[in-house]
Amino acid sequence: MDERAYQTPYFVIDEEQLSRDYRMLTDSLKNSWGNFLVGYSFKTNSLPWLVTFLKKKGAMAEVVSDDEYALARRLGFADREIVYNGPVKKRDSFERVLLAGGILNMDGRRETDWLEALAKAHPEQHFRVGIRVNFDLEKLCPGQTTMGEAGGRFGFSYENGVLARVLERVRRIPNVSVAGLHLHSSSKSRSVAVFEAIAGMACRLKREFALELSYVDLGGGYCGGLKGRPEYPDYFPAVAKILRKEFSPESTCLVVEPGISLLSKASTFVTGVVDVRDIGKERYLITDGSRFNIDPTMIKPTHLFHLELQGKQAEERPVLPHQCVSGYSCMEVDRIFEFYDGPELCEGDRIVYENVGGYTMSLNPLFIQYFPDVYVRRQGKLQLVRRRWTAEQYVQNSLTDGEELA
Ligand SMILES: *Cc1c(COP(=O)(O)O)cnc(C)c1O
Repeated sequence: MDERAYQTPYFVIDEEQLSRDYRMLTDSLKNSWGNFLVGYSFKTNSLPWLVTFLKKKGAMAEVVSDDEYALARRLGFADREIVYNGPVKKRDSFERVLLAGGILNMDGRRETDWLEALAKAHPEQHFRVGIRVNFDLEKLCPGQTTMGEAGGRFGFSYENGVLARVLERVRRIPNVSVAGLHLHSSSKSRSVAVFEAIAGMACRLKREFALELSYVDLGGGYCGGLKGRPEYPDYFPAVAKILRKEFSPESTCLVVEPGISLLSKASTFVTGVVDVRDIGKERYLITDGSRFNIDPTMIKPTHLFHLELQGKQAEERPVLPHQCVSGYSCMEVDRIFEFYDGPELCEGDRIVYENVGGYTMSLNPLFIQYFPDVYVRRQGKLQLVRRRWTAEQYVQNSLTDGEELA
């Protein structure tokens, strides 16, 4: 079937592109360090097809809540294939991952209490934990971090001495060792310099606290698939060069937690124009996609897109100075972008947004229209991997008046 015959709106993930990007990641890790593990960031997009596809390629599941942990287990990840991060872990899953020898990066004081109790309850077992480090990356890379001078809220702070105290406390537990440091930091720039600073911090902490680390976890936050921006082969040789001053691949594994960088190039969102109207001086294109589908946090100033026109091609159409491309929702803010100096668009034309794999499907609300179809393009053909939600899925787990939940 011609792709034009599929009912909009829908997401498409291109399997070949995804494979290429995953291979670029692992090839560059192999070439620059050799000893590595990939923990795919579930929160970026936890579409079941996607995470099971990446699992088959060897990725672990990087999860940051008990729900994500349960999803990873449901989709076939064993406890030892989990990278468990974040400050809202639950005690039961915390214990399971540690008992099985998964990667667990502690983030917060209550986890130290849980760890002490767990180690005491299993004196015959040796536990290996990681520590999430909070450090002043802004000072090392001015203007590049997400939170700027306000700083981030995750992990144990190096600067105020809490990190030193937690290291000391964990090292006092006889059957526990600090196996890794987790240094994920979010940056606006996603520059190579940010990752060099993170690697430099790992070296500094190793020296300062005389740590013997079996892993250094760089976290996520890479660029990928964007013209003129860094790619995996830019990051890892630079990182490896710094890490080699204090670490060797023989004894220390490099853990990475990519999310959006893996999905950017492979993902598109296909929408159709359903109506065209002129009001005042404005030409509005009403489309069946929404800003909520591709920019749920309402921060994207521009979108990468291309057009698929029905009937007359662009050269044969008048050029309009300005068309406002808007979404299906009845909120006025649901204006996706302003289309300047483009061909006049008509009902039936398609607008295909690119680089929409991360922080979109997983952040879509159930607002006015439910989750759209998701297809995978495999050998030129589309295969449905998530059927659009209907009223049926919407009411699951709900009671109507007078019913009792089974
Ligand atoms: C969000 C997150 C990631 C993934 O970030 P991307 O920007 O999607 O690469 C990885 N690790 C942790 C701890 C995160 O919070």
